[in-house]
Amino acid sequence: MSSFPQIGALAAQARGILNGLGVSASRLEGHRAATSPLTGEVLAHVADMGAEEVEGAIARAHAAFLEWRTVPAPRRGELVRLFGEELRAAKADLAALVTIEAGKIASEGAGEVQEMIDICDFATGLSRQLHGLTIATERPDHRMMETWHPIGVVGVISAFNFPVAVWSWNAALAFVCGDAVVWKPSEKTPLTALAVDAIFRRAAARFGSVPEGLSTLVLGAREAGEALVDDAGVPVVSATGSTAMGRVVAPRVAARFGRAILELGGNNAAIVCPSADLDLTVRAVAFAAMGTAGQRCTTLRRLIVHADIYDALLPRLKKAYGSVRVGDPRAAETLVGPLIDGEAFAAMQVALEAARAAGGVVTGGERVAADALPDAFYVRPALVEMPAQTDTVAAETFAPILYVLRYSDFAEAVHLNNEVPQGLASSVFTTNLREAELFLSAAGSDCGIANVNIGPSGAEIGGAFGGEKETGGGREAGSDCWKAYMRRATNTINYGTRLPLAQGVTFDV
Ligand code: NAD
Repeated sequence: MSSFPQIGALAAQARGILNGLGVSASRLEGHRAATSPLTGEVLAHVADMGAEEVEGAIARAHAAFLEWRTVPAPRRGELVRLFGEELRAAKADLAALVTIEAGKIASEGAGEVQEMIDICDFATGLSRQLHGLTIATERPDHRMMETWHPIGVVGVISAFNFPVAVWSWNAALAFVCGDAVVWKPSEKTPLTALAVDAIFRRAAARFGSVPEGLSTLVLGAREAGEALVDDAGVPVVSATGSTAMGRVVAPRVAARFGRAILELGGNNAAIVCPSADLDLTVRAVAFAAMGTAGQRCTTLRRLIVHADIYDALLPRLKKAYGSVRVGDPRAAETLVGPLIDGEAFAAMQVALEAARAAGGVVTGGERVAADALPDAFYVRPALVEMPAQTDTVAAETFAPILYVLRYSDFAEAVHLNNEVPQGLASSVFTTNLREAELFLSAAGSDCGIANVNIGPSGAEIGGAFGGEKETGGGREAGSDCWKAYMRRATNTINYGTRLPLAQGVTFDV
């Protein structure tokens, strides 16, 4: 039996958590209503910042950066280590707030906070490893090397669906790299951002000498984001959200020669080959396509199934879709919580209608509990058998819709995987070594993430996260992503008495 939340109790619970974490009551006053997708009720109000206030925050962040950049990197790592400790202590509360404000099921709310803790651990270690190179020089008695320096203020613009983790991927690295951070969270999730800000302040108080303005939260919608985007005092803008947002942000940051890290929309596919382990495939597809109610950038949206196993796989998937529990994301048995809002529901219905018009056969997709919860949008995930990869299939609809396509030749499947404008995550399910390796090769998937026998969603922080084409090209989190938050200097030192010029040039005066 699915359960649905009662209207009325969430605001008190959210306020209790915020209060307990130390968010001052004055920050919960303003004109913007913060609502819960669980019931649609108002949780609290917050104040938007205008462009001038954002400018002031950037100036204070710059002043903090001038101090912070000279603090030794391992000491900067200590601040992030303490932040990780504070997150561990606050994990249950912050996770509960993520569930209330973003609608994630309890284990995914906890998983998001765990991701923050993981990146803190990673960044703490990294603080002793911001290595440069020593490079062979062609000149005698010379040494050439590369050094990495803090770059300045990093602007972070984040989306509603990862309301806390995305900031931490950027901020944990930026802090150890010697930068200050100004964060503009999604206007749909201001309360989790306030909670994170308060938790960071606890770590800063324990650290003892954090310059005021090192981490600043600016609340607001598009206008507040644009103030960050256009300010030449922000050398790096990391923007996570829709491709439509990136299309506006990218040229504006470029126009002032800033650096943009863009983490935009995905339209992720999985190819299921004849040799695939179908038990494993069904479980992987269920989580990747229905988890987070289809609201992950890495959500599985297209399933490309070999004709020989199509009739074996589809009934099993339909069974999984039919049995998945949709309801209160706080309930242990629930696997699919609500959509973020009515707009998301409307976009889902438009996409399903277009799919039907193009010959698609839709299972699921209908709204549930609408009478009891008129302002909350719970849907059954939709499985849509499509005759072809139409424009609707090629677009990202941020909702739980899985389009299923048939293929007969592996090259055709790889072509379908790559045919869409986005390039974030992809998977192949196969036990055939040739197919697996081809998928991962230069002639295979064109995505930033390519997996074998696991779904496209649920990345670990140790790897670089991001994608190509309309996904924006940015990379965040592990591997060498830290380099995006620093500036590189090449240094050549002459320890001899002559002055040999490069390339054998002579210039004797
Ligand atoms: P959105 O684009 O509506 O908003 C994202 C953020 O951008 C918000 O903070 C918003 O206020 C801000 N914004 C919007 N227009 C702006 C502008 N012109 N200038 C500056 N800031 C602006 O996205 P959303 O609905 O919150 O999130 C869903 C989208 O995010 C999906 O497309 C999803 O795929 C994508 N996403 C991508 C990743 C990734 O890592 N690639 C991760 C999470 C979400």
